[in-house]
Amino acid sequence: GNYTLSLLTFIAVLILACPCALGIATPAALMVGVGKGAELGILIRGAEYLEKAEKLNTVVFDKTGTLTKGEPEVTDVVAFDGGENDIILAASIAEKGSEHPLAEAILQRADMLGLKVSEPETFEAIPGHGVKVGLGGKEILIGNRKLMNDSGIAIDEKEETIAGLEEKGNTVIIVAEGGKLKGLIAVADTLKEHSVDVVKGLKAEGVQVVMLTGDNERTAKAIASKVGIDRVIANVLPGDKAKVIKDLQAEGKVVAMVGDGINDSPALAQADIGIAIGSGSDVAKETGGIILVSDDLRNVIRGIKLSRATMRKIKQNLFWAFFYNTAAIPIAALGLLNPIIAAAAMAISSLSVVSNSALLKGAKIEA
Ligand code: ADP
Ligand code: MG
Repeated sequence: GNYTLSLLTFIAVLILACPCALGIATPAALMVGVGKGAELGILIRGAEYLEKAEKLNTVVFDKTGTLTKGEPEVTDVVAFDGGENDIILAASIAEKGSEHPLAEAILQRADMLGLKVSEPETFEAIPGHGVKVGLGGKEILIGNRKLMNDSGIAIDEKEETIAGLEEKGNTVIIVAEGGKLKGLIAVADTLKEHSVDVVKGLKAEGVQVVMLTGDNERTAKAIASKVGIDRVIANVLPGDKAKVIKDLQAEGKVVAMVGDGINDSPALAQADIGIAIGSGSDVAKETGGIILVSDDLRNVIRGIKLSRATMRKIKQNLFWAFFYNTAAIPIAALGLLNPIIAAAAMAISSLSVVSNSALLKGAKIEA
């Protein structure tokens, strides 16, 4: 009789009021988004990074090894004391134990020149500055202005030569031996294939692009202008990169940092999203929230587009789940829905959320 009808009505309403589809609306889409990312070579450490990537408005790129190939080559050698071979030889002895990409360029040149490079007796790498080694009672210093200034080696006279090389986008390595300036080695790194397009693409998405580097301002600006970046933060010591990100966040920016090196790890961790390049160091990859399997920078844009597509799916899901439930509850409350049909409607609602999410798998995510 009446009692059974009201009980059935009550059960039908109860079934509909249980927001099953609402509950899965978000995780279902995030799961598909993360899976799609993996397919594209974008490893997303946690779904929260997809949610953050949608709000992103600033992308900071490390220069060496991220925007550039990180395979610098020697372009010029300027000798003040001795010949070209002497400069390269002294520099190679210093760089033999170094893991810096600049060291690679110098050692390669020594190899080409057929120089026999002896092992130094002492070795000290000074992050963000250069290298100091000892051999046969003599000290070889190789690095940037800061290193020379800290060691009391005057370079003012050569400033014009150094600046001229830097304006062309070279990184100038200063070589000193026995407390005396010996020469300069200009090294240039080529841009990665897609750097220019990626910067353009990000700007088109309304994202501000920033270059962050330990290199000097003049070289950094020369490269930034080649790649289309207007904001350059140069001369940043490895330990200070994270602070730069923090300052940007204090300006209200939601920041992604893209980097490859050990020296980028603190900044990757500080950023709202740390994006580590697959060809980079393991430490960088451990701290990144998003890891690009290849070093194809276009995946930075694809990652942002994927996160936006995923967030759109979540919103659709929430809308439909909410719509089904709210439309069906009054019908059930009027006693017009059998609990079995109510349960079926709920199953369909959940299914539609799952299949709508699955559509994301086929979505075209292009850079
Ligand atoms: P980046 O941020 O571009 O990867 P780093 O912080 O590693 O740069 O280094 C900053 C600067 O310090 C370099 O551009 C270079 O001038 C100098 N430097 C650091 N290590 C070396 C090295 N092994 N040999 C020569 N110069 C070095
Ligand atoms: Mg780097």
